[in-house]
Amino acid sequence: VIHLEDIRKSYKIGNNELPVLKGVSLDIFKNEYVALMGPSGSGKSTLMNILGCLDTPTGGKYVLSGHDVSTMPDDALALVRNKEIGFVFQQFNLMPRLTALENVAVPLIYAGVNKKEREEKAMQMIEKVGLGSRYKHKPNELSGGQCQRVAIARALVNDPSLILADEPTGNLDTKTSVEIMEIFDKIHAGGNTVVLVTHEEDIAEHAHRIVRLRDGLIETDRRNPKYLTATH
Ligand code: ATP
Ligand code: MG
Repeated sequence: VIHLEDIRKSYKIGNNELPVLKGVSLDIFKNEYVALMGPSGSGKSTLMNILGCLDTPTGGKYVLSGHDVSTMPDDALALVRNKEIGFVFQQFNLMPRLTALENVAVPLIYAGVNKKEREEKAMQMIEKVGLGSRYKHKPNELSGGQCQRVAIARALVNDPSLILADEPTGNLDTKTSVEIMEIFDKIHAGGNTVVLVTHEEDIAEHAHRIVRLRDGLIETDRRNPKYLTATH
């Protein structure tokens, strides 16, 4: 699904270039469940944004589901992103004026789906994440965990094969985090490829493979011993 070859990313700050990713090569296969860890500032979010086609690398090659996205123009990239990827953020990134149902339906508008179908599909996803009765509520009437369920439903609504999540439980208490991780476990069990960033070992334990980043390079990449018998 994901093939990264010597990915580099630096940010321009005034006249200086700050190198953040210094040559990351990584393959992630269909239906893998990967946790990306590493110290603050090691480049995890930068890498996730590149994986999610929200940002482009300054060097290297990224092939996503057979498309070379590292050289793709923005409009073509947006199409691939909308079709292939569901992205979940730490801060949920919901639209405050829209109801839960309307938030979930947003990606379907971009996909050109008609209103009736949008509502049906969005409702299905809302139910899938266990939020059935609260679909009419707006984000400020929902708890953090409920907002994250909405965001996950939105990420799933276009049926992407790849789900990316940058610290999806970073703003949630332990009990709610466990509930949210159970949803990611289900998504993985349903056949999706899942890559998530976390600072917490307990959360990373849900994944079958743990990649650690340090100073813009992969430091370790190992199978979770809990799942060693499983092949990818
Ligand atoms: P955290 O665990 O704190 O979320 P991270 O591993 O996700 O950290 P990144 O957000 O990828 O780290 O940031 C890596 C480095 O790149 C940091 O030094 C950060 O200040 C810098 N950086 C990130 N985004 C930008 C940007 N848009 N412009 C300039 N510098 C940036
Ligand atoms: Mg980050």
